[in-house]
Amino acid sequence: MSTSAQAAICYGDDKPFAIEAVTLETPRADEILVRIHACGICHTDMAARDRQLPTPLPMVLGHEGAGVVEQVGASVTHVKPGDRVIMSFNSCGHCPSCEIDKPTYCYNFVPENWIGTRPDGSPTTYRDDKPVNANFFGQSSFATHALAHARNVVKVPENADAIPFATLAPLGCGLMTGAGAVLRSMDVRAGMPIAIFGTGAVGLAAVMAAKIAGANPIIAIDVHDSRLAIAREMGATHVINGRNEDSSTAIRALCPKGLAYALDTTGINTLIQQAFDLLAPLGILGIVGASSPTDNLTFNEASFMGGGKRVMGILGGDSDLFGFLPDLIEHHLAGRFPHDRLIKAFPFDAINEAFHAGESGEVVKPVLVMPD
Ligand SMILES: [Zn+2]
Ligand SMILES: [Zn+2]
Repeated sequence: MSTSAQAAICYGDDKPFAIEAVTLETPRADEILVRIHACGICHTDMAARDRQLPTPLPMVLGHEGAGVVEQVGASVTHVKPGDRVIMSFNSCGHCPSCEIDKPTYCYNFVPENWIGTRPDGSPTTYRDDKPVNANFFGQSSFATHALAHARNVVKVPENADAIPFATLAPLGCGLMTGAGAVLRSMDVRAGMPIAIFGTGAVGLAAVMAAKIAGANPIIAIDVHDSRLAIAREMGATHVINGRNEDSSTAIRALCPKGLAYALDTTGINTLIQQAFDLLAPLGILGIVGASSPTDNLTFNEASFMGGGKRVMGILGGDSDLFGFLPDLIEHHLAGRFPHDRLIKAFPFDAINEAFHAGESGEVVKPVLVMPD
């Protein structure tokens, strides 16, 4: 039995999203049908809309879904109908990266997440009995229902029953990326200085995580005073508006011995290269921001080698979903990860307004709430 749903179809090319009737296939053995209650909007949705990813349009996007399990396939054992769940990216489970619990670097990331069908080419979603591209990040959660997979659906711990879906949903991508970069990829050491370039959702999650790690000072750099004010509330000890002052000079004044950690969320190569020059011996430069696919970075080899420095590309905060997402929920419950202050909820049918609010910078993290 297939499931009828409403899904926001992305047509790209500045055309608005349109909410249309679709049907989803019955879950296969390792699949899970989720009734979506909320879904965050992330820059990767915008990148897909703008054809910067190998994703075929039109497509059902949305990859920060949260909701309730409706049906599970025969081999799914970790969740059951009625469970509250959050979703994230999918992975294959059998490549060299998945084998060591680094699924963000899955060798099969593209077919598992971005080709519009299951990796075997079979469609999950139909409109007027014809296939429509979906399975975006193994979910396509800008919809009332999503067909997801055993590897990308995480049960919400029972002590988190009171956390609304709109608060849970965005943990599955952008926030996990920023927090994981600090707590997992760079494994930031207490008492050491960090600078975080860019204070969108990813950068602000990194600021909260740097506070959890005990980094000091925590320096946030942006060009919007309103974002920098939030960064201060989230734990930044110092903020620098790069429009008003030279950020390198200001950071050098604060940390004359150099930075133990620099995290770039902007993808602006001149900033990334400046951040490299600010590193202390053994300093780590983490890069989570996406640059143009043709851009290259340059940095001084003698300083790189002689200082034992590391430049680290980071995807998804090196998250293993089943360990790190419950950790983040625990930090939120304990008041250490107050990411709900970044969220503004929009009704599902206001998806175009919600995208606009995210892109204009008016809202840090727009979240769609589906009708009951
Ligand atoms: Zn894999
Ligand atoms: Zn995302």
